[in-house]
Amino acid sequence: MITSEQIAEAVAAAYDSHKANRNGKNASYIPALAEVDPKLFGVCAATVDGQTFSAGDADCEFALESISKVFTAALAVEQAGPEVFHRKVGADPTGAEFNSVLALELHNDKPNSPMVNAGAMTATSLISATDAMDRERQVVKIQSDFAGRPITVNEQLAESERATNFHNRAIAWLLLCGGYMYSDPMEACDVYTLQCSTMVTTVDLAVMGATLANGGVNPVTGKRVIAKANVSHVLAEMTMEGLYTSSGDWAYTVGLPAKSGVGGGLFAVAPGKLAIAAFSPPLDKAGNSVRAQAAITQIAHQLGLGLYDT
Ligand code: GLU
Repeated sequence: MITSEQIAEAVAAAYDSHKANRNGKNASYIPALAEVDPKLFGVCAATVDGQTFSAGDADCEFALESISKVFTAALAVEQAGPEVFHRKVGADPTGAEFNSVLALELHNDKPNSPMVNAGAMTATSLISATDAMDRERQVVKIQSDFAGRPITVNEQLAESERATNFHNRAIAWLLLCGGYMYSDPMEACDVYTLQCSTMVTTVDLAVMGATLANGGVNPVTGKRVIAKANVSHVLAEMTMEGLYTSSGDWAYTVGLPAKSGVGGGLFAVAPGKLAIAAFSPPLDKAGNSVRAQAAITQIAHQLGLGLYDT
């Protein structure tokens, strides 16, 4: 049994250990992300009984980006059912970059994972919606339910992404050609772009993770967000492809399902116990936040959270 004092101490220690690390670089291919202060650094742990422990800039909002893929996948698994989702999206690592066209070519156009851009757009397209606004409303609502507060799109960021997302648009058309796009491809790409442009704090992200750790019930609001039976599928997808091409290294060294985004956020889930989130914009070569990885790794080791520990 891990005590509140142990969690608080681990969060504070991880923040102190890594706050001076200046390695990595902000994502620059989305112009708005290049402008975020690289010194920002927040850490938060949220438990399945709804307690949060934070340090640093944990209340500062940042762009959810690729982490949104987790919550849209959860919604699509809920709506389509786990078998259909598995067949239409997949659950294997691509071993390639998050926006790889080569990965599609190699797998007969199947995206393989909802944690890469192709599979994320397929997941977005699987949501049963009357139109683009309804699709957007549903993906933002599931993010809000996971966080336990209203999450909103940053319009300026969305505009910056929309103006530069030609590669994602091309992937959406390729998915249509290959039979893995279930709505209008540009609608799926647009809604995917919007779901990436929502703003969360590190505390929000920890609570979102704690909702998964708690079997799909938000531990702060008490609301059931997804069925307990679907949580393991979402966590498995995170394990396979949550940290881009470093996902296997992360499983080897930390052993917790996790997901990162190019906005600098990262969260990891210790099922039945807690979630740890961290945010710091500078990324390593694989696209994962340098300080967020270091902080979460340290906390997971200190608290003995690795799933493969015996
Ligand atoms: N909106 C970004 C993109 O699709 C998200 C990428 C990420 O965080 O991995 O390019």
